[in-house]
Formats: sequence, structure tokens, C-alpha cells
Amino acid sequence: MNCFIHPNKNAVATCTRCGKAMCENCSAYSRHSGICPECRNAEYKQERARLIAERKSRRRWTVFESVLIALIAIFTAAMIAEIGVEALVVMILALIPVPFIIRNALKLKAIRERLMFVEGEITKLDNALGRGIAEI
Ligand SMILES: [Zn+2]
Ligand SMILES: [Zn+2]
Repeated sequence: MNCFIHPNKNAVATCTRCGKAMCENCSAYSRHSGICPECRNAEYKQERARLIAERKSRRRWTVFESVLIALIAIFTAAMIAEIGVEALVVMILALIPVPFIIRNALKLKAIRERLMFVEGEITKLDNALGRGIAEI
């Protein structure tokens, strides 16, 4: 049996998802985990859709956080003008959302990095699968 992507190469494994035969090179792409490049590409595309949806909702949170921070800053300034430095107590309360804001920012950063990787792999796989080239 020959590889379904590289018809001139002998198959060394079959994909556990789609059952198609694949060569050494194709099998190595997913570190011999039994998934062919075509199925891996489909997985990446699903992951990309998921990441984009999560990024969208997290960006909405970022907007909400910015509004919240602005309101707290205005409120704190008004309180300081009104009752003096005791208003700094208000600022301590204002710090409560900070861990959530940091967490959201870190998640967004992780999503951005993962998306870059996934999109790179999709481009590479789309090219390789489209042209049937030997090296992925
Ligand atoms: Zn497959
Ligand atoms: Zn192959």
C-alpha cells in the first residue's frame, strides 16, 4: 500500500481517524501518533475557530475592564477631592479586579501565540496537501 498523499512512497501506518495509509514522512508529522496530516489539518482548523471565538469574548472583557478602570479612577479622584487621602481606601477596593485583568491579558497573549502557531501549521499543511509535496 502506498501513501495517499505521496503515491510513490510506501505506507508505514494507517490513520486512526480516516483509515488512509501514510508514509514515514506523513506519520512523522504528528510524531507517529497515528493521525495523518489531513486529519491533523482538520483538527487545527477546528482549534483555530475555537481560539478566534475565545479571543473575541476575551477582547470584550478587555473593553469592560477598561471602562471599569476609568470609572474607578474618576471616582477615586472625586473622593480624594472631597474627603482627602482617606479616599485611598477606595483605591484598595479598586485593586480587587486586578488579578482578573492580569489573567485575561495573559490568556489573550497565550491565544495570540497559539493562533500564530496553528495558522502557520494550517498554511504549511494546506500547501503540502494541495501540491502533494514530499516534505511537510
Ligand atoms: Zn486521517
Ligand atoms: Zn506521505
